[in-house]
Amino acid sequence: MATSPEAPAATRSKYEPVIGLEVHVQLLTQTKIFCGCSTQFGNPPNTNVCPVCLGLPGPLPVLNRRAVEFAVLAATALNCKIDRTSIFARKNYFYPDLPKGYQISQFDKPLAEHGYIEIKTPAGPKRIGITRVHLEEDAGKSLHDGLPDSGQWTSIDLNRSGVPLIEIVSEPDISTPDEAYEYLTRLKEIILYTGVSDCNMEEGSLRCDANVSIRPRGQKEFGTKTEVKNVNSFRFIRQALEYELERHEQVVESGGRIVQETRLYNAGEGKTYSMRSKEQAHDYRYFPEPDLLPLLVDEKWLAQIVRELPELPEARRARMVAQYGITEADAVTLTVTRARADQFEEAAAAAKNPKRVANLVLSDLLGRLKAKGLDIEQSPISMRGVAMSADLAESGTLSSKMLKDLYDLAFERGEDFPAIYEKEKPQQITDTAAIEEIIAGVIAANPKQLEQYRGGKKTVIAFFVGQVMKASKGQANPALVNELLSKKLAE
Ligand SMILES: [Zn+2]
Repeated sequence: MATSPEAPAATRSKYEPVIGLEVHVQLLTQTKIFCGCSTQFGNPPNTNVCPVCLGLPGPLPVLNRRAVEFAVLAATALNCKIDRTSIFARKNYFYPDLPKGYQISQFDKPLAEHGYIEIKTPAGPKRIGITRVHLEEDAGKSLHDGLPDSGQWTSIDLNRSGVPLIEIVSEPDISTPDEAYEYLTRLKEIILYTGVSDCNMEEGSLRCDANVSIRPRGQKEFGTKTEVKNVNSFRFIRQALEYELERHEQVVESGGRIVQETRLYNAGEGKTYSMRSKEQAHDYRYFPEPDLLPLLVDEKWLAQIVRELPELPEARRARMVAQYGITEADAVTLTVTRARADQFEEAAAAAKNPKRVANLVLSDLLGRLKAKGLDIEQSPISMRGVAMSADLAESGTLSSKMLKDLYDLAFERGEDFPAIYEKEKPQQITDTAAIEEIIAGVIAANPKQLEQYRGGKKTVIAFFVGQVMKASKGQANPALVNELLSKKLAE
């Protein structure tokens, strides 16, 4: 063994990790960025193509207006300043999935700069700077397996060639793998709220590369960095960063030198491997794209685009805490996706008591969804159903036990609450005499609590309500129970 198990923890305090992330996000436009081809994912290979995105000589690119609007929306949501004039540039490199021999991107004049995302850390909130957000086209895809002759050839699918992307480059402000994870989680949440991408990592709509280096604590200059590419989940990025940081420390501690290079993460082994040296790969010979005019986003257009910006997650949570009297943690759960938050607020607006709706969603609905592995969009109980059940509980028509039973049935049969309620409307005991009889029995059986109540401890009534509901197997009308109990106990 070269190192003792304690070595990493001991060296961790000596070095400061420096991490920067580059995130590529595909925009949800109907058509590609420079031609009218469809962006639909999963179509047969090479069916969404034309001379422009095939890179044939002659045809000219035409910029997709909607792609610009989506990029501006995302950049604004990330607190960036939109530059009124930005320039498209050719990034020259050779790769089989790039038939033109260059990618149209933005270089020294990007669309947006100087943004930030605020993340939570154990030491409190921290701002991670965003250097730039720029527009570019995606490349095609090399298919190394999955086809009948994959053993013999690598195939090319150019459906993805020309799909609009934004690249979001962070400042090297990230200090731990956990912070990187948190940054990516917030970033994805914000982009999803803007609706400009589905951020589906399995389909490659969100891809992340990480630049990582270490330096002795207190040192100003950065250490040599390595780049970890194409990691396909946030959890794996955290693991890859943990591995890379430890590798850097071990190399430096043993007197070695970090080589600047691109590395790939193998999630199965939990290790990174050298892919190519970065030393000479840097020369992309950028120059302004002669086939496209400078991109101008004037005040009027900008104002028009920004009007589409929805309330963003952080602001929404703060408002919901104030408006519905729920906790911060509950607000986080209810705003995990915009769809969930929208649906909750729709139900809250329709019901008499929004707080009760929040409690039902948090405890009774989300719990059952989780158990079944369903998203809120797939819930058998609609938000209209939740609102209806909340009102029935509020008016005392449904006890909480009845409500839970009906929710169980709705999930079992895959039917919405109103339908289940109509069919299964619980037989409630609304017969005053029958309830009075149960009350008399409960009071007789609990003389101590009766004494407490009459001695002034009025909260004991909740105990009696519980006992009566239990004795009636949850079928007594709760409003009636309350009314009759108050009367009886006051005698
Ligand atoms: Zn095309």
